[in-house]
Amino acid sequence: MLHQVPSWTNWAGNASCAPARIARPRSVDEVCTGIAATDAAMRVAGAGHSFAPLVATDGLLLDLAEIAGVVRVDAAAGVATVRAGTRISALGAPLRAAGVGLANQGDVDVQAIAGAIATGTHGAGGFGSLATMVRGLRVVLPDGSVAHQDGAAAFALGMLGVIVEVDLAVVPAYRLHERTWHCAYADARAHWDEAAATARNHEFFWLPLHDRCVFKSFTATDAPVSAAVAGREAAPGTVERYLKPERVDWSDRIYPSLRDERFVEMEYAIPAESAWEVLDDVRSLMRDRHPELTWAVEFRQQAGDGLALSPTAGRDVVTISLHAAPADAWQPGFAAAERLCRAAGGRPHWGKLRAIGDEELASLYPRIDEVRAARRLVDPAGRFLNAYLRPLFG
Ligand SMILES: Cc1cc2nc3c(=O)[nH]c(=O)nc-3n(C[C@H](O)[C@H](O)[C@H](O)COP(=O)(O)OP(=O)(O)OC[C@H]3O[C@@H](n4cnc5c(N)ncnc54)[C@H](O)[C@@H]3O)c2cc1C
Repeated sequence: MLHQVPSWTNWAGNASCAPARIARPRSVDEVCTGIAATDAAMRVAGAGHSFAPLVATDGLLLDLAEIAGVVRVDAAAGVATVRAGTRISALGAPLRAAGVGLANQGDVDVQAIAGAIATGTHGAGGFGSLATMVRGLRVVLPDGSVAHQDGAAAFALGMLGVIVEVDLAVVPAYRLHERTWHCAYADARAHWDEAAATARNHEFFWLPLHDRCVFKSFTATDAPVSAAVAGREAAPGTVERYLKPERVDWSDRIYPSLRDERFVEMEYAIPAESAWEVLDDVRSLMRDRHPELTWAVEFRQQAGDGLALSPTAGRDVVTISLHAAPADAWQPGFAAAERLCRAAGGRPHWGKLRAIGDEELASLYPRIDEVRAARRLVDPAGRFLNAYLRPLFG
C-alpha cells in the first residue's frame, strides 16, 4: 500500500508544503488538545487564497474548515460572533436573516474569515479592511489554553495564536445597485472623481491590451433585488471580464466576483495623493517594457487605520494590484512595478507577492517591534512562525 505524504498547496498553486501532519479539528476542544499534545511548529490554513507562503509549514498544519458558523448576532450592538473557519460566503445569509451585514467585502468571498482578517483583506471604497471590523477574538495559545484578545490582534498573520472565534462589527443589512462601464484611460480620472462623488464603493480595472478602464460602482438603494443573471467569467485582460449587467442585490451577494481562472497577484497601498502618478508610471512601464503583463491592474481606495501591520496604517491609500497567470514570466514586471510603488512610499499587501527584501519591508512599519514583542510574549518558542515569517518577526 502506498504511504500518503500530507501536502498542501495554495489556490494559485505557487506556494506549497509537506507538513508532518494535517489536522482538521471539529471543535475548539480538539484544537486545544491537538496543540497541547505537540511542541511542533504549526500554521493554520484558511482557504489558501494568499499568494505569499504564509501557511507553509513542515510541522503541524491546522485546517479549521469545520470550526464554522455564526454563533450569535447582537443586531442592536452591531456585533456578530462567528467561528474562525467560516467562509465569508457562508456569513451572508445568516447575517442577513438577523438583519445585518458586513460594511464591506473584497473581490471574492471564498476566504475563511480568520484568514481574511489576518492579512487585512479589503474591498473598494473608503472603508477599512475586514481586520478593522474585529472587536474581539478567542484564540488558542501554544499551551492549548484559550485566551481573549482585542481587535488589534486580528491583523497578525497567524502569529498571535490560533483564532477560533471572531467578534465582528456589523451594520444593518443593505442592498446595492451595481453599475459597470468602460472608458479610455485618458478619461479615467474624470470618471473616478464622478464615481467618488456618487457611489458608496467604486473602483476600476485598467486593461493593458486595450488601454481602457472598466469602472464598477455600488450605490446604496431600497430598490428590490433584480432577477438573477447566470454569471460567467470572460478571458483575463478583456473588457467583458469586468462588465456586468446592471443589477440590485443584497451586499453580500453583489460584492463577490467569480474568479475561477488561477492567477498570481502583487498589490501596494499607495498614499492617496500619489496614486494617480504611480498608476501613470505603472501603465507606461507595462506598455513600454513589460507587454507580457496583459492582465488587468486594479485601482481601489481604502481608509487609513491604526493597526500596526496594516499597509494603510496612519493614512488613506489607493491600492494598485497587478495580476498574471501563474505560468507567465511575471517576476521582472512585478518587481519593476514594485520599485515604482515603493518610491512613492507604498507598502505591500501581506497576503500577496512581493520582491522587496525583509529588512526594507520591516522598515516600512514603525510599530513592527510592538508586533515582535507581542509575538514573543504569546509564543516564546516561535512555534507559530515559518520560514517566510521568521526573518521578519523571529
Ligand atoms: C481570487 C483572489 C481574490 C482576492 N481578492 C482580494 C481582495 O479583494 N482584497 C484583498 O485584500 N485581498 C484579496 N485576496 C487576498 C486574500 O483575501 C488574502 O490573502 C486572505 O488572507 C486569504 O484568506 P484565506 O482564508 O485563504 O487565508 P490563507 O491564505 O489560508 O491564510 C492567510 C493567513 O491567515 C492565517 N490564518 C488563517 N486562519 C487562521 C486562524 N484560524 N487563526 C490564525 N491565523 C489564521 C494563516 O496562517 C495565514 O497567515 C484575494 C486572493 C485571491 C486568490
